[in-house]
Formats: sequence, C-alpha cells, structure tokens
Amino acid sequence: MSVLAPTVLALDFDGVLCNGMKEYFQTSWRAYCNLWQPDETSPPDGLAEQFYRTRPVIETGWEMPLLVRSLLLGTSEAEILLHWTTIAKQQAVKDGMEAAQLAAEVDGVRDRWIKRDVESWLAEQEFYPGIIPQLKTWLTSDTEIIIISTKEGRFIQQLLQQHHVDFTKLKILGKEVKRPKPETLRSLRSEQASNATFWFVEDRLQTLQAVKQQADLADVKLFLAEWGYNTQPERDLAAHDAQIYVLSLQHFSQPLETWITESSAL
Ligand SMILES: [Mg+2]
Repeated sequence: MSVLAPTVLALDFDGVLCNGMKEYFQTSWRAYCNLWQPDETSPPDGLAEQFYRTRPVIETGWEMPLLVRSLLLGTSEAEILLHWTTIAKQQAVKDGMEAAQLAAEVDGVRDRWIKRDVESWLAEQEFYPGIIPQLKTWLTSDTEIIIISTKEGRFIQQLLQQHHVDFTKLKILGKEVKRPKPETLRSLRSEQASNATFWFVEDRLQTLQAVKQQADLADVKLFLAEWGYNTQPERDLAAHDAQIYVLSLQHFSQPLETWITESSAL
C-alpha cells in the first residue's frame, strides 16, 4: 500500500540537495594553514578524499581545521569515525587551540572568499545527481516545497538560479530566520490546515532526532538522506528507528507516493 504525496515537503539544503564538500575542504585547508602555518601550503594528494569520507563526523564548523590537522598527523579514518569528539577535544588542547579561535578563522576565511569572489565560492558547491530535475518537477506539482537550511537564503537562490530553477513557488528559509529547525517546522505546521501532511528530508541524524523529540511534531514524517553527511552507524541507527525512513538518492527521484512503502525497512 502506498501513501499520498504530502501537502508540504520540507528539504534541508546542504547534504540533501547540494554537495558542499569541496567548499568545506577548501575553507578548512585555508583555515588550517592560517592557524598552523605549515611550510607546505598545498594539500597533499588524497587529503581531500580522506576529508570527504570523514567530514560527516563534524558537528560544527570550527572542528573542520582540526579534522585536517588530525588526518595530517595520521589519525586513521576508522578512529575518526568512531571517536571524533574525543580526538577533536584532545587535539585542540594539545595544539592550544580554542573553539572560538577555530570558529573565527573558519568564518573569516569563508567571509573573505565570498567577498572576494562569490562565483568561485559557489562553484565549489554542486547539486547531487538528479536533484535539479526532481525539484523542477515538484515545483509544478500540488506539494508545497520548502527549503530549510542553515545556509543563507541568498546563496541558495544563487545556486538554484544557475540551474534555472523557477523559485517563485519555492519557500526558502535560510540562516537569516535564526531558528533551530524543529522550531521552523513547528511554525510552518501552524500555518497549514490541520489535515495537512508534512514530510522532512534531512541528512543529519541528530537533527531528525531533535524533531522526533517534539511531541507536537509527532506526525511529521522524517527521512534521512543517506547520500548526505552521515555515517554508516548513523544510517544503521536510523534504519532501526520506527519514526525515521532512510532514503536513497535514487529513491529521492521516484514519485513521493512510493517513498514510504519502499524506503521503510521496518
Ligand atoms: Mg544538511
């Protein structure tokens, strides 16, 4: 049995629609160079790929230069995937780096880059395969599409514009709304009729878990985008969670009516 398409489909941006890994790495590498002042200012071969594979452990941006540092010191990817929180704390202490200092450097590198050359900054971010045609299809359907992101709305618009997405029907709630995602979802819900159905696709398991804990959001259907920034243990946890559906990128491009019956491994 399948279910009807939802009234509202809320989508996270980074890690669901858009792959920002290249930008994360570039920004992290520059921040790392500014803070640690290595002799060699081009990243060694393979470091970017190691970073892409381990980046899902990062919770906040300031940890990214520390991830670069740990990989360069030879910490194994397996160790990082299992024990990142501890490794990050220990490495910061060892190097005498404070979270605030790391955060300021990451933000500063990014802000200067955007100011200097926003085009090259945007060029390091690309939509996952199949996303743009799917978005365009949905925007002509009855389901309302809303993007909820911690990225600034103006950058989301610019990235969509490059692919000629007509976003007149698309609601974009970016960093500027300054609210945690569960709160944004709650306020969106309150604008809808009581019989409206609400789905939310996100790549961070912690965010979905935070939504799940809100009793008044209990009927929001939650989907973990398995192609985004999450780890295998997180995907396994989600697969065993009765309230979270694990969605593949391939399935994302299938009709919404098929999402729940086929993606739920309950
Ligand atoms: Mg995300």
